Amino acid sequence: GGGHAAIVGAGIAGAACARQLALRGWQVTVLDTASHPAAGASALPAGIFAPHTSSDDSPLSRITRAGQRCSLQCLQQLLQAGQDWEMTGVLERRQLATPPDETAALSDSPAAVPTRRSAHERPPAWKDALAAPAADWSEEASAATLEVLGLPADTPALWHPRGGWLRPAALVQALLDHPGIHFVGDAQVQALDALKTAEGQPLWSLSDGQGQQWAQADLVVLCAGPQSASIRINGQSLAAAQALQTIRGQVSWGRYAEGQAPAAHQPVNGHGSWVPYFRIGQDADAAWVMGSSFERGQSALPPSAEDAATAHAGNGAKLQTLLPEGHRPDAQAFARAQHWAQLRCASTDRLPLVGPLLPTQALQALHTLPEGLASPWVATAMGSRGLTWALLCAELLAARLHAEPLPLPNPLALALASDRYCK
Ligand SMILES: Cc1cc2nc3c(=O)[nH]c(=O)nc-3n(C[C@H](O)[C@H](O)[C@H](O)COP(=O)(O)OP(=O)(O)OC[C@H]3O[C@@H](n4cnc5c(N)ncnc54)[C@H](O)[C@@H]3O)c2cc1C
Repeated sequence: GGGHAAIVGAGIAGAACARQLALRGWQVTVLDTASHPAAGASALPAGIFAPHTSSDDSPLSRITRAGQRCSLQCLQQLLQAGQDWEMTGVLERRQLATPPDETAALSDSPAAVPTRRSAHERPPAWKDALAAPAADWSEEASAATLEVLGLPADTPALWHPRGGWLRPAALVQALLDHPGIHFVGDAQVQALDALKTAEGQPLWSLSDGQGQQWAQADLVVLCAGPQSASIRINGQSLAAAQALQTIRGQVSWGRYAEGQAPAAHQPVNGHGSWVPYFRIGQDADAAWVMGSSFERGQSALPPSAEDAATAHAGNGAKLQTLLPEGHRPDAQAFARAQHWAQLRCASTDRLPLVGPLLPTQALQALHTLPEGLASPWVATAMGSRGLTWALLCAELLAARLHAEPLPLPNPLALALASDRYCK
């Protein structure tokens, strides 16, 4: 610590990394193309955090639980419950009848797809005493829970009591609010170049690639979502960048008329995800949000009117599969809804990328890196689970940088390692 770190991207991943580094004594500059923080996917009106489950308690499930532990600690510490987030519990409806291909195309949770038959199941091992604490995080939904949402008592569903909704932009603001962190907007970083100061000290220069330098730093962390792949490092693009995919997503959302907000605030996940209640900023209007489309390889923003209409209709159709009439906005209210679109960034194996972009020796060979200058680091590819993953990834990044004990077991940390694509 004690040096100067520059972070590219002021979404939830960049803000979480900035916070973890500032807590360890770094002076942190956070740069973003936009004039304000949380202008990308993290501008999502509200999203869901909940653990993933699988019958074999897969690495994905365990990483997601570890992530939620981190997120909850942070939310409880930094944000006002009921205003910017709420641990309402989340109902997850099972869709085991859905053929795998269709699920892959439509699910909000692509990471849940590989073992479709086992996804959303609780592992039998949880019956053992040692695993018992994990069992408390995801249980069979009770008849009483289902009844509140208007669903029959025999609906196959899990209940995640520690899940809830969050306004990510509020979290980003709170994370950046630290004396060691300085936000610089309107600063699109296109190039990282290694240079030496007059005193011979090696540094990274962050610039627009056309002569406008935004910052110099000892350490660079790329948190720019899909754009991370296009930033040139000493004039070259890097191998790990090829693992990044863009998946456009659109939600439909609307405000409740005064006094019309529902009493039940529990989000419902399944074929789409439904947040029945959140508050919009300081004016505290209540709103709902229904997501979302899953448009692979699409990166146009804003979407065409046709694409927006298709996504909106898709969101409406999914909502009908989640909840019965009377427990969701009617067709008229849904038709009046607003549209919001942004780009998710995912890796080919659906797990985040956290760590140095390349082992330093490899980078030195490739790019004639001056001695003493570390590879740029990365924390991105949060996919559709940034609210559950970003804080854990930031803890992991800082722990690795500082040779601290890791916040999750080594095999899980390795599953997230950014150089897994460079071998
Ligand atoms: C429709 C939709 C619904 C979603 N629902 C959920 C949900 O319910 N639960 C959940 O957990 N997740 C959800 N997600 C995913 C979640 O929003 C993301 O995982 C998360 O916000 C990603 O955060 P990030 O910081 O990695 O990226 P972003 O928030 O996209 O931040 C990247 C930042 O980098 C900046 N940037 C880009 N290029 C440059 C550059 N060259 N120089 C400087 N700055 C740059 C951008 O302006 C942006 O601010 C959803 C996403 C979408 C699109």
